Amino acid sequence: MMTDKIPAEEREDFYKSKFKYYRKVSAIAAIITGFAEMTYFVSDCMIFGRFATETLIPRLSVIIPLLLIVLFDRKVEDYKMGAALYYLLAHWSMWATIWAIWFLPNKDFAREGFIIMHYAFLCVGLAIPLKLHIPIHAFVMVNIIVSNLFNHYEHMDMMLTLALPIFIAACFMLYVFESSYADQYLVRKQIEKTSITDSLTEVYNRNKLGEIVKPENEQLKIGHAIDVVVLMLDIDNFKNVNDTYGHDAGDKILVFLADKIKSCIRSTDIVIRWGGEEFVVLLVGAEPRVGLNIAEHIRTAVESGDNGVCSVSVSIGVSRYDGGNYHEAVKHADEALYYAKKHGRNMVISYDDINQKA
Ligand code: GH3
Ligand code: MG
Ligand code: MG
Repeated sequence: MMTDKIPAEEREDFYKSKFKYYRKVSAIAAIITGFAEMTYFVSDCMIFGRFATETLIPRLSVIIPLLLIVLFDRKVEDYKMGAALYYLLAHWSMWATIWAIWFLPNKDFAREGFIIMHYAFLCVGLAIPLKLHIPIHAFVMVNIIVSNLFNHYEHMDMMLTLALPIFIAACFMLYVFESSYADQYLVRKQIEKTSITDSLTEVYNRNKLGEIVKPENEQLKIGHAIDVVVLMLDIDNFKNVNDTYGHDAGDKILVFLADKIKSCIRSTDIVIRWGGEEFVVLLVGAEPRVGLNIAEHIRTAVESGDNGVCSVSVSIGVSRYDGGNYHEAVKHADEALYYAKKHGRNMVISYDDINQKA
C-alpha cells in the first residue's frame, strides 16, 4: 500500500491531514448527492407519466442526513466522524433509491441510479482513509444484493457485473489520490522539519519558537506551560578552542554538546540552538530544583565527556518560566549565565539565587 511510505506512528496524523485537506470536497459531494437524489423524483414522475406520489417520501427522506451534515459538519474534527456523516448520506441516498424503485413499474432504471452512486462514493471517499473506504464502498454491492430480494431487478446479473469494475475503478482512483497526497504530506513534513532544525547539531533552531509560543501574548503553549525551567548554556572560552584547534573541531564540540544535553533530558523537553555556541533548553514539567539538578548533570557530563578534541566546560544560567511572556524567563536565564561567566565559568547559576543575594 502507498501508506507504507508514511511511518506507522505518523499514519494517524497523515489521515487527519488528508481529512482536513479534502473534507470540503467530500462534504460538498455528499450534499450534492442528497440533492441529486431528490431531483430523481422528476424522473419518477416521467416513468409514471404522472405526479409520483409514492416516491415523494423516499426521495425527500434524504433531507434527514442532509440536515445532519449541515448541522454537524463544522463540529466534526476527526475523519471517523466525518466518514460516519458523509457515508450515512451516501448509503441513505442509495436506500432511498431502492425504496423509490420498489414503487416503480420499470425497475430497469435502477441500474443507472446505482452506477451514479459509485461516483458519489468516490467523491465522498476523498477525505477518508482508503482502507476504511473500501469496505464501506463495497457495501454498495451488498445493498444491491439485499434489495434484489424484494425489488427483483430485471437484470440483476448485469447490475452486478457493471458495479464490480466501477467499484474497482473508483477505489483505484482513490488509491492514486491518497498516494499523491502521501507524497505531498511527506515533502511538507520534511520542509517543516528542516525549517525548525539546526543542520549542524540537529537540535531545534529558533524557528521552533513559532510552534511553541502563542503569537498574541508570547506565552509558551507547551504542556501546561507553568512548570517549565529554562536553561541557557554557553561554552566557556570557545573562541580559544576555535583559534587553537580550528573551526571544524569547534563544530565537532558543538555536536558533542548537543548530544550531551539530549542525553540528560527527557524527550518532551526542548533544546534550541539559540545562536553560535549558545543553547536554550526548556525543561517541560520540571520543578525548579529538578531543573537545577539536570543543569548540573549536563555541566558535569560535558566537563568529563570525551569530545575528541579537548576538554571543554559550559556555564549554565537557570530560570523559572512563570506563565507570562517567555522573553522574561530567557532574559533571567541569560542574566544568571552572565553571572556564572563573571564568577569563574563552568558553573550552574540560578536566577532566583542571585536575586536573593542581591
Ligand atoms: P565565554 O566563556 O565568555 O563564553 O568565552 P567565548 O570565547 O566562548 O566567547 P563567546 O561565548 O562570545 O564565543 C563566541 C565564539 O563562538 C565565537 C566563535 O568562534 C564561536 N562560534 C560561534 N558559532 C560557531 C559555530 O557555528 N562553529 C564554531 N566552530 N564556532 C562557533
Ligand atoms: Mg556565546
Ligand atoms: Mg562562550
